[in-house]
Amino acid sequence: MSQRPGFPAKLPALGAPRTTRTPAPLVGTQRPVAMPTPKPVPSKAVAGTSPAQRSAPLRSGLGMGMDYGPLRARMVSNLAAQGLQDPMVLQAMGLVERHRFVETALAVQAYEDTSLPIGLGQTISKPNVVARMIELMREGISGKLGRILEIGTGCGYQAAVLSHVATEVYSLERLRGLHEKSRENLRPLRLHNVHLIFGDGMLGYPKGGPYAGIISAAGGESVPQAWLDQLAVGGRLVAPTITPAGHQALVVILRTAEGFDRQVLEAVHFVPLKSGVA
Ligand code: SAH
Repeated sequence: MSQRPGFPAKLPALGAPRTTRTPAPLVGTQRPVAMPTPKPVPSKAVAGTSPAQRSAPLRSGLGMGMDYGPLRARMVSNLAAQGLQDPMVLQAMGLVERHRFVETALAVQAYEDTSLPIGLGQTISKPNVVARMIELMREGISGKLGRILEIGTGCGYQAAVLSHVATEVYSLERLRGLHEKSRENLRPLRLHNVHLIFGDGMLGYPKGGPYAGIISAAGGESVPQAWLDQLAVGGRLVAPTITPAGHQALVVILRTAEGFDRQVLEAVHFVPLKSGVA
């Protein structure tokens, strides 16, 4: 088993002058988005919702006004019972309010182990899959990871979880509608270490790299070379990828001083990794 460097020791210390990294000139469509100063945001219970959206949680006796803490705590104990072990990941899953990232009508399902639609044909992964992928990316590390890259911001839920297990999170989304939605979802959380970028994740985001971890929420035919190039030595990449057997599985790639160690794990079902922006 290769040793992993203790991130962020190998990477520039957080808070240190980051003269080599920021602010770099921006190219193409990749635009980092500084999280604006948060304004008080009404809870989704009072935000404009359709009668159908309002009635769904009420029908089941639940609503945005309710305390989702116990449901979230139960979700975390279920994750632990399913074998997830990394205390920092479990803690992060307990901190992020998943119900705030989905439509009000779906809020009651937010703490079930199910994927949910987030618009534009995309889905937020099951909590179990989110936690599993982050745990795989963090294998061998007990403290926070250094800088990490997420491909596929979607609604921003996983980026929020990642913000608690890494010092800096760069998250790319190719659909403008979801990029904007994730900004709205994340604004009230004031996660200053999350950098949302509208752009094609196939190209990675060299300005934030090299990364201690790379995680993709969309599955491609193969792992783009740009991701491998931007992975730090000792860093781990976790991505759903089509295997030689022709199905989609989780692939973990560890970058060593000598090259790349690749492991193919369980079968998964992720939305496709697409190139370009829309
Ligand atoms: N992590 C997300 C999951 C979103 S689903 C969440 O917590 O909600 C996967 C996302 O990957 C979709 O939003 C899809 O638009 C995006 N995606 C697919 N190909 C991409 C690419 N090349 N670059 C960036 N995002 C991509």
